[in-house]
Amino acid sequence: MFSENNIKSGCVEVICGSMFSGKTEELIRRLKRAQFANQKIAIFKPTIDTRYSDKEVVSHDLHSVTSTPIREPEEMLNLEPDVMEVGIDEAQFFGDSIVKVCQTLANRGLRVIIAGLDTDFKGKPFGPMPALMAIAEDVQKVHAICVKCGNLANHSHRLTASKKLVVLGEKDSYEPLCRQCYNAAIEAEQEAAKA
Ligand code: ZN
Repeated sequence: MFSENNIKSGCVEVICGSMFSGKTEELIRRLKRAQFANQKIAIFKPTIDTRYSDKEVVSHDLHSVTSTPIREPEEMLNLEPDVMEVGIDEAQFFGDSIVKVCQTLANRGLRVIIAGLDTDFKGKPFGPMPALMAIAEDVQKVHAICVKCGNLANHSHRLTASKKLVVLGEKDSYEPLCRQCYNAAIEAEQEAAKA
């Protein structure tokens, strides 16, 4: 089995789940551990994510680490030579070229840790995440708790009417739901739309 403690050469790790599942917290935990071991790290996020701060990966519980906002994944290839680990947050918002960039970094011997939403609010695989999961040495699915029934949640249910795919995760826009409660909520919305 893959173990975080056995990393000596390059690899790709994916941490994915719904909103409020603790993805970013897990990303930060892994990166901070590397930092304590005096490994130089670099963290990136898409410029589209401007919640709270322009310069930091900020998770919902406000544990944060400083990151660089970038537009294109290729910008990650110009790393300082002594960087050992690369973290990427909100990876679902990047284009498909992030897959090749992550492969290139891992082939250079770097540990690449990617956090992102596995599915969008419609329950469909989100952007480059399926491909990133396919090429990764390790994938960890993290879960929120369903706000309706307390089961493990793997859906980000949108509470607002906006149909735009990219709406950032404010607490009043989404709720984590389990499969059954998500399906029930979508059915109720479809019924309401017909009426
Ligand atoms: Zn539920």
